Amino acid sequence: MQPDRNRHFGTKLVLWDIDGTLLHTDGIAGETMRAAMEQTFGATVRQERTFYSGKTDRQIIQETFPHLTLSSVLEQLQVFIAVYVAEFERQREAVLARAGVMPGTRAVLDHLHTRAIQAPLTGNVAPIARMKLDWLGLLDFLHFEVGAYGDDHHERSLLVPIAAERASRYYGRSFSGHDLVVIGDTPHDIRCGKLNGTRTVAVATGPYSVDDLQIYEPDAVLPDLRDLPAVLTAIWGEYV
Ligand SMILES: [Mg+2]
Repeated sequence: MQPDRNRHFGTKLVLWDIDGTLLHTDGIAGETMRAAMEQTFGATVRQERTFYSGKTDRQIIQETFPHLTLSSVLEQLQVFIAVYVAEFERQREAVLARAGVMPGTRAVLDHLHTRAIQAPLTGNVAPIARMKLDWLGLLDFLHFEVGAYGDDHHERSLLVPIAAERASRYYGRSFSGHDLVVIGDTPHDIRCGKLNGTRTVAVATGPYSVDDLQIYEPDAVLPDLRDLPAVLTAIWGEYV
């Protein structure tokens, strides 16, 4: 979506994690990514779900293949992305059959649509993020071009300034501190928000429970996105 930059979208830039927060692919994306990594970089060891969750795709590649230098990962990155995109496209029917939007998500995105700028902040490489959001009908709620992605940087916390810079270039004003809200399902998302001084909301619809997430002291923790007033309070910091 290319929103009208002169339209009023409130003062907040809400940065949404994708997997485990807005939607799930029932493991298909992870399996496809492992296959694409094997094709591009060599054999991998199968890893448990929490190894992947919250990390950027570049970070996962670097941790899966520690013998590769950063420059060799970057050299091969576009090849990996092309393989991953082609493989994921082939999985489209399975994704449509098995993937799902997290409960309450559409109502929250719809409510915030005219009240805030919303964009993805995800470890997914951008073309995969776009396919997931498009296939599950969420793309039109988000300003995809001001988001930040796993091919922008391997360190998730450095995706926040990238998104803030893209948004400020587009909307002609700066976004910092609590103008920014980071929402995600893992300790990595919480750390990323806190390191950048954003408002940080955790949601326990991924592999971590409310108690697990609370340990990392986000500004708010939600069991899921179903209770719209509670979600809005968590995002704004007060009920509006
Ligand atoms: Mg996630």
